[in-house]
Amino acid sequence: CGIVGYVGSRAALDVAVDGLARLEYRGYDSAGIAVLSGGKLELEKRAGKLANLRSALDERPRPSDGIGIGHTRWATHGPPTDGNAHPHTDCARSLAVIHNGIIENFATLRRDLEDRGHAFASDTDTEVTAHLLEEHYARTGDLAAAMRAVCRLLEGAFTLVAIHTGEPELVVAARRNSPLVVGRGIGENFLASDVAAFIAYTRDAIELGQDQVVELRADSVRVTDYDGAPAPVREYHVDWDA
Ligand code: GLU
Repeated sequence: CGIVGYVGSRAALDVAVDGLARLEYRGYDSAGIAVLSGGKLELEKRAGKLANLRSALDERPRPSDGIGIGHTRWATHGPPTDGNAHPHTDCARSLAVIHNGIIENFATLRRDLEDRGHAFASDTDTEVTAHLLEEHYARTGDLAAAMRAVCRLLEGAFTLVAIHTGEPELVVAARRNSPLVVGRGIGENFLASDVAAFIAYTRDAIELGQDQVVELRADSVRVTDYDGAPAPVREYHVDWDA
């Protein structure tokens, strides 16, 4: 339902939770975040309101590097439980992924992944993307290439955003039939399902086109198609008040 991503020098955890709060008006049944902290993946997710996530976060140390993602879920596959909330992760817990939309062919993909030894932790359609990214990353060590390869396998509507401990400077996102906007800052960049999530930080936005992948680093934004070719995007300035 709601998606935020951040890379820069602020504490990503705070930016992600703040971004989710700005998307609350859309309605949701669960919320979660993943950040890198000292290079390690830290993940917290809770069914119910953002307040539940905030109190879970208050009960633990909250160090955070400048890279993170956040999600509010509107369940389509699997009930709204802590386990089904996003982010989802791979078997090795090296990556985290969040998703808006529906992966139509998830049942076949899941069966194949289980046959190859992947253990699933949720009932969602989303979790296949975590395990597929894990497989493709193992082959290439390149999260953006893995994302492009995975998107080519998916049917349906999706915005996907992933981070990986192996590339701790990078947020990768992709979209098909589901919105995704980048917010350009100075020495920091944002992405979200809706500009409302980052408008307090920057009004310079880039709207992604259909079937595109974006690689977001603190000082660069690179957009390609699913084959890796540079892709055209629409840059604009958000001039309405949040
Ligand atoms: N289909 C996914 C799920 O049920 C994502 C739902 C959403 O867009 O929030 O977890």
